[in-house]
Amino acid sequence: MAAEKARIVGIDLGTTNTLVASVKNRVPRIVPTDRGTLILPSVVALSPKGDLVVGGVAKDQILTNPKNTIYGAKRLIGRKYDSRVVQELKSYFTYDIVEGADGDAAVNLGGRVYRLPEVSAMVLSQVKTIAEQFLGGPISEAVITVPAYYNDNQRQAVKEAGLLAGLSVKRIVNEPTAAALAYGFNRGLDQKVLVYDLGGGTFDVSVLQLTGNVFEVTATGGDTFLGGIDFDNRIVDFVLESFKKETKIDLTQSPIAMQRVKNAAEAAKIDLSLMQNVVIELPFVEERKGKPVDLKVPLTREQLNALTGDLVERTFQICDEVLTEKGIARSSIDEIILVGGQSRMPLVQQRIHQHFGKPPRKGVHPDECTALGAALLAESLDSIDSVTLLDALSMPIGYGLPTGRFRKIVDKNHRVPATKSFRVPPPAKPGAPFVEIDIYQGDSEFIVDNEYLGTVKLPAAATGRRIDFKLDEECLLHVYVEGAGEPKEVKLATRDTPEVLKKMIAEQLAKRTQEDERAAAEKGGLFSSIKRLLGGG
Ligand code: AMP
Repeated sequence: MAAEKARIVGIDLGTTNTLVASVKNRVPRIVPTDRGTLILPSVVALSPKGDLVVGGVAKDQILTNPKNTIYGAKRLIGRKYDSRVVQELKSYFTYDIVEGADGDAAVNLGGRVYRLPEVSAMVLSQVKTIAEQFLGGPISEAVITVPAYYNDNQRQAVKEAGLLAGLSVKRIVNEPTAAALAYGFNRGLDQKVLVYDLGGGTFDVSVLQLTGNVFEVTATGGDTFLGGIDFDNRIVDFVLESFKKETKIDLTQSPIAMQRVKNAAEAAKIDLSLMQNVVIELPFVEERKGKPVDLKVPLTREQLNALTGDLVERTFQICDEVLTEKGIARSSIDEIILVGGQSRMPLVQQRIHQHFGKPPRKGVHPDECTALGAALLAESLDSIDSVTLLDALSMPIGYGLPTGRFRKIVDKNHRVPATKSFRVPPPAKPGAPFVEIDIYQGDSEFIVDNEYLGTVKLPAAATGRRIDFKLDEECLLHVYVEGAGEPKEVKLATRDTPEVLKKMIAEQLAKRTQEDERAAAEKGGLFSSIKRLLGGG
């Protein structure tokens, strides 16, 4: 445990686990926790004694004290309380999600409301301490990774979490970019690399051009509701059905039995990445006439492949869409880098080989590469080895029209840093003293489906002036408005949207909800979508 002068670390702040890495003698490595593991569960809890605990200790109480155990914060951070994602997660997460004073989602822990950046700050603060103890000195700076699809609010919230943890966040970097860095940093490569990231709850794909230490993202895409949890659910359904056929017992009515089946399904899935067959066994899973009934269902790798093959195929459809959109030929991909635990599934690796005509790159660790890449970037920020990251915007940014439609200003996959300009539109109501421009980010043509970022409020006299949307290298938005002199940066206000627009949003939201309910009913209930929402990533 030699003391060294590392003062900056790379952090992969994950949905399920958080990893911290640092560079020593130009080699990045993961810092082990005090429990000897390389990962810290991203869980914060209030113990029965009233102490706030973080990591493994917090995770240990997830079943016994679910109301006071916060997990999956990465899915909530930087989201408005009234957003659809939060409203859906609210009914299914076991802890209380409430509205914070700023309108963002917050959590209630033992009667005190915590903002999500505060929750994530507790996790970051813990990894900071772990790194300080291991590296033998204070750590004051970090590079933190975020999913490529994170919008401006979510990125800002992670930056704030870092600050609250006492870290100056030198850079927010996209996870696939960090993974590519772990692979290609200082190797003098000239390659087109595809990062295939299949995590617990999400699938992401990014294509990067590596030219020396220039890492240029050329295309990104993904599905925020496709991941390991969907694979688990297929096994759960299979086990429930087999058990019912044999015993006529329906386990779906017993929450404890369901939780046990779910855990066993995931364990079986992971075992089947190494073995050809397993037996899922749950003693005393139910009672019948006062007597315990055991569950015993054998499962082969072949059966697992048949149950989940379409999920794997869906990832390739997404890869193809991303490549086609940018006119990139499959055969031009030089390397495929795997990220995310679910990418360890042998079927995934076989299908990658078939689909791209080459096997995925060995030697890049799917769980660790994101943190390692962040550490490399952190170390290189002030050095002569420094890297150039040319990232791409994963979701369009634009503003809302009075009709409830979304007017795109910066397109998806647009290179960042970038500046795009437009003219201040007239007030929604003729004669109104102010123009309000509500800024959104998202893929939908309707603002109701996109994420609200903030409002630019200007006097009506500003109509026709130039507005610049400037995106910096962290994909963060800065808004400038042309005035008498130099364009001035404006701080985004929260919405004071005209009544017409508010009404329109409410109507669209109601319509969407009805459509969703209809679709869910057709699919046999909300169950599957709920389970997906609970997945990590
Ligand atoms: P991540 O979000 O990257 O931590 O990925 C977590 C997901 O990977 C979970 O759904 C795990 O069940 C899954 N996973 C972890 N290890 C394996 C494995 N060896 N084979 C298949 N899936 C795995």
